[in-house]
Amino acid sequence: MHAAERSTCSTFARPARARHSVMAHGPAAGTDGRGGVSHVPDGGRYGGTMTYRRCGGSGLLLPAVSLGLWHNFGSVDPFDMARAMVLRAFDLGVTHFDLANNYGPVPGSAEQTFGRILREELADHRDELVISTKAGYLMWPGPYGDGGSRKYLLASLDQSLRRMGLPYVDVFYHHRPDAQTPLEESMLALDQAVRQGKALYVGLSNYDGEQTRAALAILHELRTPVVLHQPKYSMLVRAPETDVFDVLAAEGVGCIVFSPLAQGLLTSRYLHDVPRDSRAAKPHGALSPDAITPERRAQLMALDAIASARGQSLAQLAIAWVLRNPVVTSALVGASHVGQLEDTVAALAAPPLAPDELQAIDAALAHAGTAGTHP
Ligand code: NDP
Repeated sequence: MHAAERSTCSTFARPARARHSVMAHGPAAGTDGRGGVSHVPDGGRYGGTMTYRRCGGSGLLLPAVSLGLWHNFGSVDPFDMARAMVLRAFDLGVTHFDLANNYGPVPGSAEQTFGRILREELADHRDELVISTKAGYLMWPGPYGDGGSRKYLLASLDQSLRRMGLPYVDVFYHHRPDAQTPLEESMLALDQAVRQGKALYVGLSNYDGEQTRAALAILHELRTPVVLHQPKYSMLVRAPETDVFDVLAAEGVGCIVFSPLAQGLLTSRYLHDVPRDSRAAKPHGALSPDAITPERRAQLMALDAIASARGQSLAQLAIAWVLRNPVVTSALVGASHVGQLEDTVAALAAPPLAPDELQAIDAALAHAGTAGTHP
């Protein structure tokens, strides 16, 4: 167990009842349980640009744009900015927040950050939120802190719940397939999480089409509520189009795509240089500056011109592009400050991409083979 993890073990207190109605649109402050005043949400948050899309054939709706806490919510990041982004997201109608056991750095600290924000600011609004976490990558030393065993998955979920101070998450994912563990064992562990009341739904991430089909067969047989797959998908990473998307469409399972902005490449961030505060410049960032080759930059400039002609930022074009596909339930974005999130969500205000715009994008992407490594 991480030292940082031990410091948060309080239980998320479900309020007796919301102290003010979200329908009333009148601001009224809740309390954060410490005598402080918690966030007063924007009463218009469900009447703005946000739209909600159904997860496959399930009853669950997700916002078209969801917020992920992989980067910028760790113990190395300023808490005030993390809190500002989560609260602004909520006010913009973002009801879904995605975590994993290992998000930080340090691993586990993004869950602690999110748990604190929930407790101090959004305690009255738990039932308006879809919170997900995952296990599948290395989390603690020894033979039981990685992979897909029942031992690892169920222990990790318990740790995640403690860090966030929650009795349950809405979605618990297996973060990646594990060839060393029988698939049935991993799927039975996900099922067990639901039967224990620690997850409402389950999901798969980074499973290819064949692995997804096999996993879904088991989950369907168990009648486990599997609602989501989480693959990497963007204009620069299109593999799901010829693999997992077909399986999800056929099986009626939802799809939330991660890194739709290609970690920031598909934004204005790197059009001219590598900003010092960007992910590519950070020692713990997962985006290598080597990904920004002259060819890649030329391609991004071509895409940016298409975005400008639509009156959009490149980030907004990238979001419109992933959401054009009806298999995609939600675009799972990251952000390093509030303005980025506002810009991204504003993508939903624009008309859908026209056929000639899609052709122009495909033409710009046709050079992908010479545009450097994929993020
Ligand atoms: P994105 O592709 O959305 O990249 C986010 C980055 O893009 C930000 O940190 C910021 O970069 C930049 N950015 C965002 N919005 C704008 C904007 N409007 N204008 C300019 N720049 C912008 O997603 P992530 O790679 O962060 O992944 C999103 C989420 O997906 C994660 O938090 C996680 O929840 C999930 N994920 C899941 C994985 C899995 O294996 N299942 C793997 C990876 C991610 P900068 O920080 O440089 O400012």
